[in-house]
Amino acid sequence: MFSDYRLRQRDYLLQIIHAMTAQLDLPSLLKLILQSAVEMLSGQVGLIVLRREDGSFYPRASYGLAIQAIHLLEPLWRDLPRHATSRNWHIPDLSFRLDLASAAVGVPLRQVIALPMVIGDEVIGIIYVIRSFGADFTLSDRQLLADFADQAAITVQNARLYQQVEEERARLNAIIENSGDGVMILDPDRTIRIWNRALVNMTGVPAEDAIGRHCYEVLDLKTRDGVSVCHTACPLVHLPPDGRLYAEGDTRRIDGVKVSLADNYSPQYDREGNIVQVIANVRDVSRLRDAEEMKNMLLSVISHELKTPVSVIKGYAGTLARQDANWDRETLTEGLRVIEEEADKLNELIDNLLNASRLQAGGLKLQFTYIDLPSLVEKVVQKMRAQTQHHTFSVDFPPDFPPVQADYERMREVLTNLINNAIKYSPAGGLIRVSGSVRGHEVVVSVSDEGVGIPENEQDRIFEPFSRVDSSLTRQTPGAGLGLFLVKSVVEAHGGRVWVDSQLGRGSTFSFTLPLVERRP
Ligand code: ADP
Repeated sequence: MFSDYRLRQRDYLLQIIHAMTAQLDLPSLLKLILQSAVEMLSGQVGLIVLRREDGSFYPRASYGLAIQAIHLLEPLWRDLPRHATSRNWHIPDLSFRLDLASAAVGVPLRQVIALPMVIGDEVIGIIYVIRSFGADFTLSDRQLLADFADQAAITVQNARLYQQVEEERARLNAIIENSGDGVMILDPDRTIRIWNRALVNMTGVPAEDAIGRHCYEVLDLKTRDGVSVCHTACPLVHLPPDGRLYAEGDTRRIDGVKVSLADNYSPQYDREGNIVQVIANVRDVSRLRDAEEMKNMLLSVISHELKTPVSVIKGYAGTLARQDANWDRETLTEGLRVIEEEADKLNELIDNLLNASRLQAGGLKLQFTYIDLPSLVEKVVQKMRAQTQHHTFSVDFPPDFPPVQADYERMREVLTNLINNAIKYSPAGGLIRVSGSVRGHEVVVSVSDEGVGIPENEQDRIFEPFSRVDSSLTRQTPGAGLGLFLVKSVVEAHGGRVWVDSQLGRGSTFSFTLPLVERRP
């Protein structure tokens, strides 16, 4: 006859069951179950064994027994059947082991009670309570214990499922977070719920600033002409006829750098066909778009800038070669001079184009030698003088100007481009001054003119490839917008800097530095 009065207290049992249901953390839940079972049955030792995926059992929680002594009870979980055929759970003969365990616990242990936790007909684990006395249970006691075990089984199963879901969620989060592509998860109203690390890197917007806001506010994609893609062509709002949920556009990173992003959207639907969330995969396609733009620019430059000198050359050559005309010496010389000049322009343009593409591909190799910059400047100016009657030139270097280590050909190109621009963009003539000085560990070379000048907001942009100030003079002046890009790339490859000081209508001064460092050959 089972004497523990607590067992009869249904209220107490309900309380325990309530506490168990609220607990989703498996270790805490097992501890609670075990403590309650031991207390209900006035036991000394408790043990919970759980079943693994492969069907074998292992001890998962213990009460009243030191961890090192658990192995003494090992027959309790060895070779257990997977299916529950009977509620009278088989308990192996433990007499010898119980003596050892009694010694470990310090009190005699006589009776082992097994409460199998069963879901369907599968045993998911067993609660063992071991106690000092060996009384029998009444039928109602047994029923109560079985109810307790059934309830424990359900809560353990729930906690395990919850743990699995949590692990799965953590795994998915890790995959999303570490994905090389940007991933954002949106609510049906386009509120951002997840914003992964790749997106933080692409946009500079931290996750805590993006989550909770609408994606069209955070990304605000625009076409190259500045039209908002998010507001006029979001595929989640205006479903495209081909059904392809794709959007592409430019946005500004937090640091102001422009990035081109391409988004692919995958909506997820519930059973009724309503969108529950949208997974958006975001890629940085800036390099692709820049390359495309470069290609288009290149085509338009080639068609415009290269065609003009070619048609002049062809026109002059055709005229001079006419059989029916008898050109005097002067006309011939003039015609040939024009042809030579146009061919030189072509050559320069082709050089610039080739060097620009080499620079883009990172393939421009510098040949460093010691260069006497003042004499190189003199040479370039000498050549330029022949091209203009409206300008005067001055070259101004201190007599002790030191030799610099640089690539002679590239430096000649840099000076040619700067002086050429000074001539081109001061059509009314004026003084073009090339000067040099030493400042600390570098030399500074400046080319100044008294020409049209450059608006302040254009002064950074003009160093980008193919960019030209939009003015009537520029439109009339041949040029591909590559000269300053080359100047900047070459100077920077030498470890120097380049900048412009300019006032609209007053003239411009382009300056660059070269470091005075000893380079190993
Ligand atoms: P290009 O002269 O072939 O157009 P550059 O890269 O050399 O290309 O120059 C880019 C733009 O910068 C020019 O189109 C012009 O608008 C402006 N620019 C360059 N140099 C000067 C200058 N000395 N004075 C005024 N504007 C200049």
